[in-house]
Amino acid sequence: MIRNAQFVVSNTDPKKCPKPDRAEIAFIGRSNVGKSSLINMLTGVKELAKTSQKPGKTQLINHFMIDDRWYLVDLPGYGFAKVSKDTKDKWEKMISSYLTGRDNLCGVFVLIDSRLEPQKIDLEFLNWCGEEGVPFVVVFTKADKQSKTQTDKNVKAFLNKMEDIFGDIPDYFVTSAEKGSGKDEVLQFVDELISE
Ligand code: GDP
Repeated sequence: MIRNAQFVVSNTDPKKCPKPDRAEIAFIGRSNVGKSSLINMLTGVKELAKTSQKPGKTQLINHFMIDDRWYLVDLPGYGFAKVSKDTKDKWEKMISSYLTGRDNLCGVFVLIDSRLEPQKIDLEFLNWCGEEGVPFVVVFTKADKQSKTQTDKNVKAFLNKMEDIFGDIPDYFVTSAEKGSGKDEVLQFVDELISE
């Protein structure tokens, strides 16, 4: 369980992130995937992560200090329908520099909307992580939005695609911020990652 979560700083420049003196876990996904809701569920702080950054708004790397022990990082989402090439380029540069250059990063939790069939943009991003050696975990969100059968079907389809790409299935979690499900499992895994 998380006892204390506090906002530390927002940056556009990965070099200006806090001193890497603690383990760090980052969260990323398509805009509207439920990232803010998941972060709020995990930390137990209702408005810690602000819901949905709108396109055009500055895209920021947000650091939160958790229990004085590790950093939770809320990364700007990808896949806005209507952003300029310039914004996309800036996002890519910032994210790739952060993910490949952050020494204390123990893992990236990549959020996938469990309502949808496998999306190209998610698979491309995960493929890039694999190529760059960025350690990732898959977190399916919004599991309460459809029947368990449908969730299982979508999860399975996504994992099959992952197996095609990587030859094996990554660590993954199925969650619902609405119901609070998956919380203990995700936090348990965070604990393992930051203790390594
Ligand atoms: P973000 O843009 O990825 O940060 O997504 P948000 O956390 O703002 O969520 C986008 C929308 O999905 C909001 O309307 C949330 O209320 C909704 N949402 C997020 N997680 C869940 C969930 O687990 N279950 C349900 N039913 N809705 C969710």
